[in-house]
Amino acid sequence: MAAASIKRNYGQRFAFYNHAMHEKLMVEQKIINTMESSLERGDFAVYLQPKVEVDTGRLIGAEALVRWEHPEFGMIFPGDFVPVFERNGFIYHLDLFVWRKVCRMLREWKELGAEAVPISVNVSRIDLYHEDLLESLLDMVLENGLDPEELHLEITESAYVKDSVQLVSVIRRLKQAGFVIEMDDFGSGYSSLNTLSELPIDTLKLDLNFLRQAEHQPRRQKVMRLIIDLARELRLQVVAEGVETEAQAALLKALGCRYAQGYLFGRPMPEERFFREYLEKQGL
Ligand code: C2E
Ligand code: MG
Ligand code: MG
Ligand code: MG
Repeated sequence: MAAASIKRNYGQRFAFYNHAMHEKLMVEQKIINTMESSLERGDFAVYLQPKVEVDTGRLIGAEALVRWEHPEFGMIFPGDFVPVFERNGFIYHLDLFVWRKVCRMLREWKELGAEAVPISVNVSRIDLYHEDLLESLLDMVLENGLDPEELHLEITESAYVKDSVQLVSVIRRLKQAGFVIEMDDFGSGYSSLNTLSELPIDTLKLDLNFLRQAEHQPRRQKVMRLIIDLARELRLQVVAEGVETEAQAALLKALGCRYAQGYLFGRPMPEERFFREYLEKQGL
């Protein structure tokens, strides 16, 4: 009897997982089938989220975040497709599109006479293996009459783990060409503090879980303060990600973290709205 019931339960559970997995694979397959046509049709949009100085609320930059306005699924967030595109290699094509779009935005803002701020773009670990990465980035920047310094490259902490020799040299070349390098999601992965001195990094972006955990844990606050102090010694800017509450902003101030990004200051938004709300009133 026990065996029968175990078998029955197992069978149900198996059917359940099997169904969920099947769904997931179907969605993934659809994503893969539609990615190229979607890119051609212009279904991918580049949203911008402000980065500010915590003390004053002054705008210091923006991060470009991709959104997929999918004809069938509606708005899809990068968490659902970036990992898929990293596996099948499409991410580089999507990122080239995002970076090109960002360069055009920067040029347009200048043409409109706005006091533009640098925009940070996300660079996937996969992009770093493309031989023509540096050349493509430089072409876009020059074609739009920009300085490489206006484009900041966010490279996730976990990218530094594997094949560090090759990646370190790619990142050094990007830096030498004048791009500003930001280490994304710092504190989420396993990079050693050594990485900080080895790589030509300009900015540390503290992972949002770092702040969440520090909020109620004094020991973690001490670690966070130490990292912020170390970053200052190394002349790195520190930007805290995912700031949602006044209490979190107050903690950042107390710990000496100058810059932040998060829903408290502004959500990711379409370019037109970002321009109206953040640039037009400042620059014009
Ligand atoms: P990320 O680079 O660490 O970006 C920050 C993420 O935190 C964004 O999620 C942003 O919308 C979200 N966020 C900002 N403020 C808050 C807050 O106050 N609270 C919370 N809970 N979240 C906040 P998003 O846009 O869904 O992007 C997720 C990840 O996908 C990004 O993490 C980045 O790794 C990747 N990604 C986004 N756009 C691109 C892209 O154009 N290319 C590549 N390769 N990756 C991208
Ligand atoms: Mg980022
Ligand atoms: Mg991040
Ligand atoms: Mg993150």
